[in-house]
Amino acid sequence: MEDGKPVWAPHPADGFQLGTIVDIGANSLTIEPLKQGQKVGDHMSCSLMYLNEATLLNNIRVRYSKDKIYTFVANILIAVNPYVDLPKLYAPETIKQYHGRSLGTLPPHVYAIADKAYRDMRVLKMSQSIIVSGESGAGKTENTKFVLRYLTMSYGTGQDIDERIVEANPLLEAFGNAKTVRNNNSSRFGKFVEIHFNEKNTVVGGFVSHYLLEKSRICQQSQEERNYHIFYRLCAGASEDIRTKFHLESPDAFRYLNRGCTRFFANKDTDKQILQNRKSPEHLKAGPLKDPLLDDQGDFNRMCGAMKKIGLDDTEKLDLFRVVAGVLHLGNIDFEEAGSTSGGCTIKNQSSQTVEYCAELLGLEESDLRVSLTSRVMLTTAGGAKGTVIKVPLKVEQANNARDALAKAVYSRLFDHVVTRVNQCFPFDSSANFIGVLDIAGFEYFEHNSFEQFCINYCNEKLQQFFNERILKEEQELYQKEGLGVNEVHYVDNQDCIDLVEAKLVGILDILDEENRLPQPSDQHFAETVHNKHKNHFRLTVPRKSKLQVHRNVRDDEGFIVRHFAGAVCYETTKFVEKNNDALHMSLECLVSESKDRFIRDLFENSINAKDSKQKAGKLSFISVGNKFKTQLNILLEKLRSTGSSFIRCIKPNLKMVSHQFEGAQILSQLQCSGMVSVLDLMQGGFPSRAPFHELYNMYKQYMPAKLTRLDPRLFCKALFKALGLNENDYKFGLTRVFFRPGKFKEFDQIMKSD
Ligand code: ATP
Ligand code: MG
Repeated sequence: MEDGKPVWAPHPADGFQLGTIVDIGANSLTIEPLKQGQKVGDHMSCSLMYLNEATLLNNIRVRYSKDKIYTFVANILIAVNPYVDLPKLYAPETIKQYHGRSLGTLPPHVYAIADKAYRDMRVLKMSQSIIVSGESGAGKTENTKFVLRYLTMSYGTGQDIDERIVEANPLLEAFGNAKTVRNNNSSRFGKFVEIHFNEKNTVVGGFVSHYLLEKSRICQQSQEERNYHIFYRLCAGASEDIRTKFHLESPDAFRYLNRGCTRFFANKDTDKQILQNRKSPEHLKAGPLKDPLLDDQGDFNRMCGAMKKIGLDDTEKLDLFRVVAGVLHLGNIDFEEAGSTSGGCTIKNQSSQTVEYCAELLGLEESDLRVSLTSRVMLTTAGGAKGTVIKVPLKVEQANNARDALAKAVYSRLFDHVVTRVNQCFPFDSSANFIGVLDIAGFEYFEHNSFEQFCINYCNEKLQQFFNERILKEEQELYQKEGLGVNEVHYVDNQDCIDLVEAKLVGILDILDEENRLPQPSDQHFAETVHNKHKNHFRLTVPRKSKLQVHRNVRDDEGFIVRHFAGAVCYETTKFVEKNNDALHMSLECLVSESKDRFIRDLFENSINAKDSKQKAGKLSFISVGNKFKTQLNILLEKLRSTGSSFIRCIKPNLKMVSHQFEGAQILSQLQCSGMVSVLDLMQGGFPSRAPFHELYNMYKQYMPAKLTRLDPRLFCKALFKALGLNENDYKFGLTRVFFRPGKFKEFDQIMKSD
């Protein structure tokens, strides 16, 4: 902070800005921003008040402005979404360049990470995983696809299987992605894609695991968001023949499609621009639900092409489409109060044809469908008629819920089926090792946070712990093993937060399951139990006590605040109980599992519920979404722990989703949420570059007198460093290698080569 030298000062929009100190007070500094155009020469060499975050952010900013979207921090790849096609960056020639090249020899690239994973797999004979994270729209899915393409193109057999691994994506995206306000092609599920290799390290097959498809979207979407792509694509692209057979119309005609996105270009400059470029007659006549940013018809054809390439025949394709159409018609069924005193409801007359279509498409008896939607089978326990099964009429509201529950169950099972089917496209008998790529949503905190955010943030706590383990712990362990005598690098272990969620009985997930099993579960009672069980937990607070006004608007029995590694999030518990239950009520479960249609029957075949429910006759069975996710997640983490790992942190440069716009403050917060900042802390305090003695020996012996080269590599290095008079604070000798302070290896190298 010498006089006049620029420093990095925090800035609300840019994250950090360069300025000069004009006054130093007791508790504050006054900093004047540099005037526009004022040059500071080399940015990196100025005094840095906030060394870690500020320089990293600036580095990313400068690189991004030159379309260099990838940056390495140690072995972690930071990838900024360019929001523009960079064909050269991903060209086949580029793929060839990265083939077999060590990290650091070529510019940072997602291909460099992919190749490192491959080489590590081959050399260490150990499976590898690449964990891609970042917020919605940051580029996780695109980078995942680049990795898959790189590996199959470089190390495939040149046969079908390579193409299939890549072409499975359009199908998965059609059924599992949707337009949201954050991303026009947002993945609404998590996935772990494994590419398997044989002993010769050639691709033999693949396997996809999927997590937590967002189900609420099937029946309702927020303003300016859409349902899953497949619905619109089918309406826009299906042949006349299919349209007639499945009674398809424009998306505007379907309740499940026409309630979210009514206007696509409200206040969105970017949308308007694109709209102007695309003022083709088709776009204008397509009705209000046609999204000018998406080409549903073209996408439909591309999707059909992909289906063909991965080996789906026409029958299978039609099965998928038929169920999608069935769900759409199901959504159009309306109920009204029955005139009688029963308190129940009936299906509106106008919906008659819809019921017929729906029954036809899903292979159901129309009368059964009517009964199952408007009544529920229950087991009486009162009076003498104990054990008798009775039909309880549903109120309009309940029937609406039953209809939506059925739609969600059918569609989510269809999605499970799509994934299973995709997995059959690249089967393998045996595999030596795999490279797995994890594409799953990063830490989320919105204005309102519900069960979905709770699950995804729980997942991110687990992944963050893994990240810490790998990057931070391993680093410390290495220092220790090498006897460096470096002070422990401090980091906050988040096991207590993970326990808060997943511990047996007292964890939030188990408390929620307990609530679900009560005769009359309620979201309020659940919230109260959570607070009661964890009165003085460091990670948990009641909303009312929060310092933030936004949280204080939530009543204590309507939510709880969890202090995550990336910040505190207030979860509103409304609908937690409902969202945690994956079971259909019994009449609906029986209805679909006894469908005349083989395909539908198979979708529900392995549902434990179907078999159980008949025995338990009417007892509301319950399948826990939260605990299923917990099990899946623990299996995933066990897998990750058994592999070598690399990390890609994706960054969304701006909220407008446009190219060449860098919103510093937003990006800084993403770096913090992704745990990058703690990595930087560690590196600053540590020794990021390192080289084994024998490597240094081989690299520099040519520059040394023969007398010196007769020494063993360790002594050689000691003598060399002494002779050069290097500052002892800049490096440390471990047992097998030399460690350098940040930037010092380069200096050392330059001295050697210039001498
Ligand atoms: P979500 O969590 O919502 O699924 P995501 O992180 O998977 O988000 P992507 O779908 O990968 O985000 O990226 C969003 C959009 O950004 C893409 O559809 C594409 O338009 C653009 N994009 C991302 N990465 C790149 C890239 N490397 N080159 C060009 N465009 C990109
Ligand atoms: Mg995605």
